[in-house]
Amino acid sequence: MSRKFLILAGGLLVLIILPALMWNGLIQQGNASAFDMLLRLSPARHSLARKSVVLLAIDDETVSRYGGLPLDRAVVAEGLKRVASGAPKVLVVDVLLSERTREAADASLADALRRFPKVVLASALEATQDGKQAHWITPLPEFQSHAFALGHVHLEPDRDGVARTLLLTKADADSRYWALGLEAFRAVFDAQEPPTEYSKGISVGSRYVPAAASNDRLLWIHYDGPEGTFRRVSLASVLDGRTPASSFAGKVVILGVTAQGAGDRFYTPFSVGLGMSGIEIHANIISTLLDGAYLSPLGPLSEFLWLLAIVALVATAAWWRDGRLMTPVAITGVVAIPVVSYWMLRAGVIVPVASALAAHVAASLVGLLADARFIRDRLGEAVEGRQDYAFRLQAVAHEIKTPLTAIHASSQLISEPDISERKKEEIAQRIHKEAGRLSGVVTTFLDVERISAGVLKLQRREIELAALVAEAIERAGLLALKKKIAIEKDLDTVVVLADPEMLQFAVYNLLANAVKYSPDGSSIRITLRSGPQVACLVVVDQGCGIEPVEQKRIFERFYRTKIHRDHVESGSGIGLALVKEIVTQHGGRIEVESQPGKGSSFSVFLPREAAL
Ligand code: ADP
Repeated sequence: MSRKFLILAGGLLVLIILPALMWNGLIQQGNASAFDMLLRLSPARHSLARKSVVLLAIDDETVSRYGGLPLDRAVVAEGLKRVASGAPKVLVVDVLLSERTREAADASLADALRRFPKVVLASALEATQDGKQAHWITPLPEFQSHAFALGHVHLEPDRDGVARTLLLTKADADSRYWALGLEAFRAVFDAQEPPTEYSKGISVGSRYVPAAASNDRLLWIHYDGPEGTFRRVSLASVLDGRTPASSFAGKVVILGVTAQGAGDRFYTPFSVGLGMSGIEIHANIISTLLDGAYLSPLGPLSEFLWLLAIVALVATAAWWRDGRLMTPVAITGVVAIPVVSYWMLRAGVIVPVASALAAHVAASLVGLLADARFIRDRLGEAVEGRQDYAFRLQAVAHEIKTPLTAIHASSQLISEPDISERKKEEIAQRIHKEAGRLSGVVTTFLDVERISAGVLKLQRREIELAALVAEAIERAGLLALKKKIAIEKDLDTVVVLADPEMLQFAVYNLLANAVKYSPDGSSIRITLRSGPQVACLVVVDQGCGIEPVEQKRIFERFYRTKIHRDHVESGSGIGLALVKEIVTQHGGRIEVESQPGKGSSFSVFLPREAAL
């Protein structure tokens, strides 16, 4: 399997599992946790709400000093009257005022509420006893009569218990309420009309809130910070005068219970251990709306494209320049994805970090695996190359050793005192011959190396092939004569564009082999034909022939057939490899046909482009 195929197959696999990465529960949880983390890392914004919201808490101190919960409405009323005297803008009551208590206390609270310019009261949807029907719990009419609006106080945490979003509107069969925070926001702007609804959002007065109908008017709460970010005042401190009424001037006051074991608490992206009190969450909702700090997740298509882009980038890295960039891209991605997501979040876009990381890691693994395989193959090739090289060195060393031994022995002999002049001359000739052989071996070896490395460039020129072949025949004539082998030739005239030396080498090698591997007294036939497409040279002998299984291998470097390996004829097994290399470099091909015991036929085809 090739590396590219592996990358392709892997890429496809990752593409198929992309949707699973996008909608898998565990990854979704990862996305949510990453969102929390990035939100915590974001610097706190200069929130308008932080200056304009004050939390009025029925806290532990209030409860311990003014009686248990529910706190006497007369006490609450007293506190509120003091707050009202400071001229706040809006009072938001995050306490359900649906039950009657003492008449005087209820009347006092109604009186207190009347002193605020705008009051937003809480309503809640609660299931009836049988659990089947839901109905709204709303404040008593005397409280409602002065309310600017009623708002629902429902918050549905995600599956991990963290409240990240809010449904801006909630309905039962009969009626529907906007969220308490949204109504408070409307009260701040004194927008008398209820929100106007569009498919992508709603408008409150002159302000537009992006919350699509298709998404149940869901709003991501852009929390300002952990509990305690908004100014909080204990009701007790108002009652005993520690907090002056003037500190509520022009403010949005949110009244609610924070005493331990009472009032709603939810985990938020900022919560550690203890959840956040309901009033602080309302403050965060108002803050999101006031600042227009809306957060919106990537849509499914954008998310898919984003993951696709990551996979494509990794695949390119795995592919490009033999995967050299794969490791840096794999490492950079793991850092870059959260960093990009952080900046996107700051721009109000929630990017699924875990999905992106999962897609990146999956794609990187496939890429790294494919590249590892590729590197392993390369290593394998290198090892093979080394083995081949070692083998060649051995062969060359062997080839060199024979003439060297002869030279060594002869040179020793020549220096002996009682040796005749004639003998000396004979030895000198032998040394000369063996040295020539030695140089031949080295030259051939170097030529093979250079040709196969592509270093030796062909010096092409127009040559008459028949003349070249005739020259080779003449050179081989001496060898043939020794073995009484007849060489017949039938040569057409054909001009080719070729490197004469290289081609001479090739033709001579074919001829020399034919002579070398043929018995005494046999004959060799050389034919040169000029066809329409190619020039074709055929050397036919009546030699020992080559077994079918060995016919392909004889063109491999240093391959010698079994019968010749054991020194029947000397040779190095590089000649044919060189011939093939030369023919191939000329754009041609070489073929062999042979019958063991009967003879062989080597055909060289040179294409028209090389032939003129
Ligand atoms: P070398 O002749 O030096 O061994 P070559 O590469 O020229 O190397 O040839 C490779 C092998 O192919 C030879 O060792 C021999 O076994 C076989 N061979 C080549 N030419 C012939 C031929 N004409 N007839 C039979 N065997 C041949």
